[in-house]
Amino acid sequence: MEEIFGPHGLIARAHPEYEYRPGQIQMAEAVLRAFTEKRHLIVEAGTGTGKTLAYLVPAIAAALARGGRTIISTGTKNLQEQLMEKDVPFLQQVLPKKFTAAYMKGRGNYACLQKIKRAETMPILDGLDEMDYFDEVRHWARDSQSGDRAELTELPEYPSFWRHIDARSETCVGQKCPDYDACFITRMRQRATDADIVIVNHHLFFADLALRGGQYGQVLPDYSAVVFDEAHLIEDVAAEYFGAQVSSYQLEDLVRDLAMLPITSVDANRELTKIAGRLTRFADNFWMGFRNGRGEEGRFPIMPGTFARKRTDGEIEATPLGDAYLGLDGALDRMETTLDALPEQPVEIESLVRRVRQLRFDLQFIVAGDDKHFVYWMERRGRGLFLRASPIDVSGLLQDKLFEKVETVVMTSATLASAGNFSFIRERLGLTEETDDLIAPSSYDYENQAVLYLPPRMPDPRAQEWPQAAADEVIKLLRASEGRAFVLSTSFAGMKALYDRVAPEIDYPCFLQGTAAKAGLLEKFRETPNAVLFATASFWQGVDVRGEQLSCVIVDKLPFAVPSDPVVAARQRYIDDQGGSSFYEYSVPQAIIALKQGLGRLIRSATDRGVLAVLDPRLRTKAYGRMFLESLPPCRVTSDIREVGRVFDKDTAFAG
Ligand code: SF4
Repeated sequence: MEEIFGPHGLIARAHPEYEYRPGQIQMAEAVLRAFTEKRHLIVEAGTGTGKTLAYLVPAIAAALARGGRTIISTGTKNLQEQLMEKDVPFLQQVLPKKFTAAYMKGRGNYACLQKIKRAETMPILDGLDEMDYFDEVRHWARDSQSGDRAELTELPEYPSFWRHIDARSETCVGQKCPDYDACFITRMRQRATDADIVIVNHHLFFADLALRGGQYGQVLPDYSAVVFDEAHLIEDVAAEYFGAQVSSYQLEDLVRDLAMLPITSVDANRELTKIAGRLTRFADNFWMGFRNGRGEEGRFPIMPGTFARKRTDGEIEATPLGDAYLGLDGALDRMETTLDALPEQPVEIESLVRRVRQLRFDLQFIVAGDDKHFVYWMERRGRGLFLRASPIDVSGLLQDKLFEKVETVVMTSATLASAGNFSFIRERLGLTEETDDLIAPSSYDYENQAVLYLPPRMPDPRAQEWPQAAADEVIKLLRASEGRAFVLSTSFAGMKALYDRVAPEIDYPCFLQGTAAKAGLLEKFRETPNAVLFATASFWQGVDVRGEQLSCVIVDKLPFAVPSDPVVAARQRYIDDQGGSSFYEYSVPQAIIALKQGLGRLIRSATDRGVLAVLDPRLRTKAYGRMFLESLPPCRVTSDIREVGRVFDKDTAFAG
């Protein structure tokens, strides 16, 4: 590793701006040891460590040495693309031994050649604009090597017709497809099978892990080691895939695909149309029960007694929603038997029947709601409704399916430790004592690059005076920093309230999350001098603005997970029921990691400097506040707004 990362190593010679970073080499050596000794490892590597190369180089070295394949899994598709487009080509030039890398995304990202052909004769487009787009997609699919829609930079993010032409597995006929050899999925798999390093994202990784060993086979090629970047996201993604889910979109898709079956018999088609109509009616009736109330978006628990209740005489009876479920299940049953008995059996039928069976199975599991290891909940998002059953504790599943099966698992992120230790992440993921850990020191000089501002007299965040007091502090800070700030709130309501009070009082351009797409807002923020962005959780992670344009990050409250969230509430209850303290073992460490993520937006390079401000007084008034303070970067702390002003004064900056 010294030969590669050292001051005169291969990277330093290839990259004129390369800085030697002891934390990077320390991490690279720890990762290499984990590979050679077949151990698991957790590494916290804050911004400025150079963690991507610190895991990529040993992962490549180990894959070449032992001949096995290593999976690199990232939290987002953006990071996946960055690795593939930037870091991997750089290392292919620099490293002395040749290696191959491939990336895989979820099948929904790729075009299906069969469906594109079929769409040419089917009415799936919503107007002239879409016809133009579709034409563009058709031409692109003819020439593209990957079939990944990320190549279509001119395409709007979610054109409504993409759902009709993507390569998702439910509608794929596999080897029976006439385009199987030319298929983008077949080619993607082939590239991955031939590669030493395969770059995926957590969603694909856990979708595959949940399927492995089951009747649907596997998506990823076999591997002997995995590196998770942004590993703080693993628990939530794993819970999503180890559970069951049924959505209103799935039922809509079933009806649509039923109508598209290439059946020639007039009688059979008439019967299928009847079934589709019946299924639509029963599905509408079922979802109606979940649309009642104010219909606001969010995640809500499915309460016991939703589908069945006990009468006073002790008998169990179905509720109206339970009746609606029975009607829907009956319609699905009829669809399954009719499809099975059709005299014509085109290849598409097999996958359609398989989907109906899986859907009935998942729906039955959610409606029964009687497995105490699961939390049952629903989500309203856009016009979609999602019913879910998620395992409350994924540690046992991860232990069985991942840590005991794979030789080396490396988990890294800029934020994994709280109060200097990894107890939280170890507990949540089920890691044993044998798992090594490391906090790789950052190369940034936080003492001289950042100041943490804690306002001297703030009311309790639940007090009536809080919103105005918070707004007053934000105004003072923005005047000192001349805008150039992120104001991060823990809720939409808090963000909006701050924006409404602050924006009219300052002379800097203000942007508000939700008024444009995230990427567009970030772009505007980067391009507009002295801009201020008001945002919530989705801007706390994975956002990178370098330089003076972002000189101040203000966080309104400590980011405790909302206890009304059904998954959070179930995890907390589970810990308390086992005799633990969910507050200290779950809520506090989880909020520390979230706060570190938010504050991590500020210092993104060795020359960045600025002010972190946390307006929540509990940092100092509560006993647990110390755990937060000990977990933050080692910068100077002040309650004097004049010192904040001095940070931005070019002559006196950081003089004292
Ligand atoms: S193999 Fe499946 S995904 Fe590929 S073109 Fe054929 S149907 Fe589409």
